[in-house]
Amino acid sequence: MARIETPNRIRGTQDIFGDEQRRFAAVLETFERVRRLFAFQRVDVPVFEATAVFARSLGETTDVVSKEMYSFEDRGGDSLTLRPEFTAGIARAYLTEGWQQHAPMKLVTSGPAFRYERPQKGRFRQFHQLDAEILGAGEPTAEIELLTFASQLLDELGIGDEVTLQLNTLGDAETRDAWRAALVAHFESRKDELSEDSLARLEKNPLRILDSKDPRDRPAADSAPDIDAFLTAEARGFFAAVTAGLDAAGVAWTRNPRLVRGLDYYRHTAFEFVTDRLGAQGTVLAGGRYDGLIEQLGGPPTPGIGWAAGIERLAMLVSEPAPEQIDAAVVPMGEAAAVRAQEVIAGLRRAGVSADMGFRGNMKKRMAKANAQGARFAVILGDDELERGEAAVKDLASGEQMSVPLDRLAVVVADMVIEAELRAEGDDASERLIEAGLVRRGDEAQPR
Ligand code: ATP
Ligand code: MG
Repeated sequence: MARIETPNRIRGTQDIFGDEQRRFAAVLETFERVRRLFAFQRVDVPVFEATAVFARSLGETTDVVSKEMYSFEDRGGDSLTLRPEFTAGIARAYLTEGWQQHAPMKLVTSGPAFRYERPQKGRFRQFHQLDAEILGAGEPTAEIELLTFASQLLDELGIGDEVTLQLNTLGDAETRDAWRAALVAHFESRKDELSEDSLARLEKNPLRILDSKDPRDRPAADSAPDIDAFLTAEARGFFAAVTAGLDAAGVAWTRNPRLVRGLDYYRHTAFEFVTDRLGAQGTVLAGGRYDGLIEQLGGPPTPGIGWAAGIERLAMLVSEPAPEQIDAAVVPMGEAAAVRAQEVIAGLRRAGVSADMGFRGNMKKRMAKANAQGARFAVILGDDELERGEAAVKDLASGEQMSVPLDRLAVVVADMVIEAELRAEGDDASERLIEAGLVRRGDEAQPR
C-alpha cells in the first residue's frame, strides 16, 4: 500500500501545548484581571475584514500592507485579508456599528493575527496579540491611562523589571511636515548608503527609514535629525502633560527620540516596552496615538490611542506557571467498582470537585497517575469498601486515609478540598504578610 503522507504544520504557525500553553494562558488570565482593574471593556472583532480596512488605515507603503498581509479573494470575488493587527478592525467597527454613541470607549481584545514574515524566535506568521484601545479621547490623560495599564500588566506578569518604556512624540501635523522635510534633506545627502527598501521609503514615507531593521540603513538613520527642534509649542505641551502624568502615576519611562512606529497612522505619542532578553525581537508591547485613523476610514475626526503586545513574546518572559492539578483521582478496583466509579466521579464533579479517572490500569498504575497529576485526594473504590457502602479517601500529601459513606462522598470531599485550599491560602497569606514585614511569626514575637 502506498504510504500516506501526513500534511505538515504551516511554516510560522504553532501548536501550543504543555508548558508553552500554560505560559500563554497565564498571560491571558493576567490581561483579563488587569483590564478589569482599569475598567476596559472586552470586544471581539472578526479575524478577517475587507482588505481596504487595513490598506487604508495602516498605509499602503508600510511593510505590513506592502508585503506582510494574507489577502485572498473569496468565492464571491471580494478581496479579504486576515487581520495583521486589531486597531483597524476596531476602528471599522466603531464606525459601522455606531459605537460613537459610547465614546469615549476603553476597549480590549486579544487573539490571533497574521503576517507573512520570515519566521524566527519570537516572530511567527500566525501570532497572538493582546490589544487595548481608547477611542474618542484626545486628552493626554488617555495616554496615561493606557500606559499605566500596560505597565501594571507587565508588573503583574512579573516582568516589569525586565522591560523599559521608551517614549517619543511624533508631534502634530505641522511638526511632522517640518521634521519630514529635514529628514528628506538628510537622507538625500546620504542616498548612496541606503538600502533599496529605504530608497523607496524616501520617496513615499521617509520617517519609516528611522525604523529600518536593515543594518545598511542604520548609520544614516542613527545620525538623522530628531524631532525636538521641530516641535510646535502645542505638541511640546502635549508631550509634557503625558510625561508629567506618567511621573505622577509612578510609571518609569525613557525618551527615545528615534522611536517611530511601523504604521502610518500615529500622531503625538509613540511608545514601546522593550527587553534585551529576546534578541532582535525585543519589543513586547507597542503603540501610540492615531488621531487620523478614523478619518482615513471615512469617519468624523476622532482621537484614538492604543497598544498591542505579542503574547508569544510575553509568554517567553514569564516564569513557568505551576502545572494544573486536580482535586481528586477516582481509583476503581475491579469490574463492579468500575460502574460505581462513574456514579462517584459524576457526583464529585457536580459538587465542584475537579476529578479524573484513568481509562484503564491496575491500582498501582492508577495511584501513580494520580500522584503525577498532582491530585490532592485519591478516592479508592475496592470490593470491601463497596460492600460497606463506603469509599476510602486518601490524602496524597499526608498519606492519611479515611472511610467515607458513598451517599455523602461528594459533599465530604468538596468540603475537604475547600479546607485544604483555605489551609494553603492561609499559609500563603501569612508568608506574604511576614515577607512584607507587616507581621512577625508567632515564635519570633518579643516578650512584653
Ligand atoms: P516588529 O518590529 O517586531 O516587527 P511591529 O512593529 O511590526 O514589531 P506591531 O505591529 O507594533 O509590531 O505589533 C505589536 C506587537 O506584536 C509587537 O511588539 C510584537 O510583540 C508583536 N508582534 C508583531 N509581529 C509579530 C510576529 N510576526 N510574531 C510575533 N509577535 C509579533
Ligand atoms: Mg513587524
